[in-house]
Amino acid sequence: MKKLFYITGTFTVVAALLATVLYNTAAGQDAIFERAAKTLMSQPSAQFDGMRVVICGSASPLGNDPNRAQACVAVITPEHFFLFDVGARSPLRMAQARLPMARLNGVFLTHFHSDHIASLPDVNLNSWVQGRKSSLQIYGPTGIQTVVDGFNLAYRLDQGYRVAHHGSDLLPPSAGPMTAIALSPGEVTWQDDLMTVTSFLVDHHPVEPAVGYRVDYRGRSVVISGDTMATDTLFAAAQGADLLLHDALSRTLLDPMITVATEMKVPVLPRIMTDVIDYHANTLNLEARASAAGIGQLALYHLVPVPTNALTEKMFARGLSADTILVRDLHMFDLPPDSTELLIHEP
Ligand SMILES: [Zn+2]
Ligand SMILES: [Zn+2]
Repeated sequence: MKKLFYITGTFTVVAALLATVLYNTAAGQDAIFERAAKTLMSQPSAQFDGMRVVICGSASPLGNDPNRAQACVAVITPEHFFLFDVGARSPLRMAQARLPMARLNGVFLTHFHSDHIASLPDVNLNSWVQGRKSSLQIYGPTGIQTVVDGFNLAYRLDQGYRVAHHGSDLLPPSAGPMTAIALSPGEVTWQDDLMTVTSFLVDHHPVEPAVGYRVDYRGRSVVISGDTMATDTLFAAAQGADLLLHDALSRTLLDPMITVATEMKVPVLPRIMTDVIDYHANTLNLEARASAAGIGQLALYHLVPVPTNALTEKMFARGLSADTILVRDLHMFDLPPDSTELLIHEP
C-alpha cells in the first residue's frame, strides 16, 4: 500500500514537472500549438449517417449572456447542410461545432428581425473563403430581396478586396454576393430525393409574413418555429414530427423584471418587455399542444428573457415537464434514418 502511494506520488510529481517544462519552453509551446492547430484544421467533426440538428444560437434579444448566441439552428446530413436563421454570435458556435461551412447549401430565414439575420454577412463570407463555389441561396418570405440586396450592397467593397487579394480562382467573384429566393408559405420550399423543406405561416404580429419550417429527411423530421405565439398553423404543420424547436417566453422570469424595471423607473425597458408578451409563445402553452400533435420531443429555444445561470434556467422551466428540453448553445440532436430514436448530446 505504502509502495503504491510512493509510485503514484512520484508519477504525479514527474507529470507536473513535465507539463511545466512543456508550457514554459519555446519547444514545448510549439509542440502544444502544433497539436492544437492540427485538431483545428482537420476535417469537420465526424459525419453522422442521418439528420443532425445543432443549436448554434438559443438566445432572444432580451438579455445578454456570452454563452448564448442569438437564434440559429443547423441541419446537417451527409448530403445537405442548411442553416435556419443566423442571429448575432452564431458564427462562433458554427466554428466551435466545426460545421462544414464549405458545403453550406443555403440559409432559411423565418423573418427579418435583426436577431435572426445579423450574421448573414459573416456566414456568407465564412463559407465562401472556406471553399463554397456558387452563390449562397437565402430563402425567406416576402421581404427577402430587400434584406439580401442590402447586405450585398454593404459588403460589395469587402468582396472586391478579397478577390483582388486571393485571386478569383480561389474566391470565385460570382459566389460572393448572396441570392435571394422568395418562398410561398405553406408550400415546399426546397426538395431533393432525400429531403423536403416546407414553410408555414406563424403568428408574430406585427411581423408579417413570418414563417416556420419543417424538414423531412429519410423518415425523420424536425420543425423550427422561428418567433411565434403558440399557433394552429404550426401544430398542423408539425404533426407527428420527431423534434420541435419552439421559441418560448417565460412569464416567471419576465413579470418580475417588468415590476422591478417599473419600480426603478428604468426608461423604455418596461414598455419593451411588456410589448414582447403577445408575440412569443408562453412556455405553459406548448406542452399540451405538442403532445396532441404527436411531437416526439419538444425543445425550447429563442428563450425570452435569456436565462443566464442555473437559477434562471430552473425558473424558466417552472411548470414544464422534465421531458421538455430547454436548449443551450451547441446542444445536438441526432435522428437516425427510418427510426424513432433521438440521440441527444448535451453541450
Ligand atoms: Zn422576431
Ligand atoms: Zn427573435
